Amino acid sequence: MRAGELFQVLRDGHARTRAELAEITGLARSTIATRIDALMACGLIGPAGEAVSSGGRPPSRFAFSASSRVVLAVDVGATHVLIALTDLGGRVLDESRAAIEVAVGPVAVLDLVVEQARRLLERAGRDVRELAGIGIGLPGPVEHSTGRPANPPIMPGWDGFDVPAYVQQSFGLGGELDVLVDNDVNIMALGERAGYWPIEENLLFVKVATGIGAGIVGRGLLQRGADGTAGDIGHVRLSRGDGVLCRCGNVGCLEALASGPAVASALDAGGVHAESGEDVLDLVRHGSVDAVQAVRQAGRDIGEVLATCVNLLNPSVIVIGGGLSAAGEYLLAGVREMVYQRSLPLATARLRIVQSMAGDRAGVLGASHMIIDHVLSPDRIGALVADA
Ligand SMILES: [Zn+2]
Repeated sequence: MRAGELFQVLRDGHARTRAELAEITGLARSTIATRIDALMACGLIGPAGEAVSSGGRPPSRFAFSASSRVVLAVDVGATHVLIALTDLGGRVLDESRAAIEVAVGPVAVLDLVVEQARRLLERAGRDVRELAGIGIGLPGPVEHSTGRPANPPIMPGWDGFDVPAYVQQSFGLGGELDVLVDNDVNIMALGERAGYWPIEENLLFVKVATGIGAGIVGRGLLQRGADGTAGDIGHVRLSRGDGVLCRCGNVGCLEALASGPAVASALDAGGVHAESGEDVLDLVRHGSVDAVQAVRQAGRDIGEVLATCVNLLNPSVIVIGGGLSAAGEYLLAGVREMVYQRSLPLATARLRIVQSMAGDRAGVLGASHMIIDHVLSPDRIGALVADA
């Protein structure tokens, strides 16, 4: 076990003595001492008081110094950005929000992100050099290995744009600053799991907003698929959608029936004025029976697709997030109705279908988690301490 692996033991934040670490890892006390020194030298762990002595000098304890560096977590939505500054434990130190259309293009959006990020660092009294990395979520398909968006439908100008390189240059740093990019639904799945379902290995996060998509966690890891499009359930065809045109050019897509704008336009066509998902939520809050029924039907449509996902993936938790999930039980009831009716009994015996608890912070929590897991991985820590 190298220094990077020993460090993983301490990432839970508990303080331990050298003897306790020797017992957990099976390493010799002398080896532990060398690796502790190396990790202390780079500031990733620090002294954490003394343990109770059984006679003689009390043994020192060591713990992960989560505040030694910071990371930036960025959630770019269709019409806004949310940026959080967190410590290495994922704790949010500060955050800022700004309204901007993603459609104005990558340079304008990323310039705003960098400007806000610099302000957050300044406010926290942290130098750019203390930045361990940046995690970014974008509202479209992303090739995760390169951080470049891939044919994103609502993001003109972003296709193939080298997001990591642009952000690194803007900070005046080259490849030494880690920047990871993924699509927003994937990072929301990571954030929801890290914050609220850490022991669930198989989780499906479904975002229901302007679009509909899913983030898949399988055996504890995000499943991106061969090209990063895994979980793109918004364009599965439903029989109820015959004749309903989708923005992707096909007809009958789930997104064309059950997204926020789709529910609004169905209500509007039926004589109940609504233009957006937000209008639908307002109507629900004011007790509109038509809106409640429309939301429940959207839930059934989503549930019809999720029933297939449940049979295929056997998750133990399905989390429904995104703007329209604020309709709460009305949407969930429709989802549950179809999933329990259409999935195999064994697949639903322990299945929970719940509303997102992270809410609109799921994205930044996940972006922070994604970049922290990368910069604190055993390999990276090993390289940092020259593998003591
Ligand atoms: Zn479609």
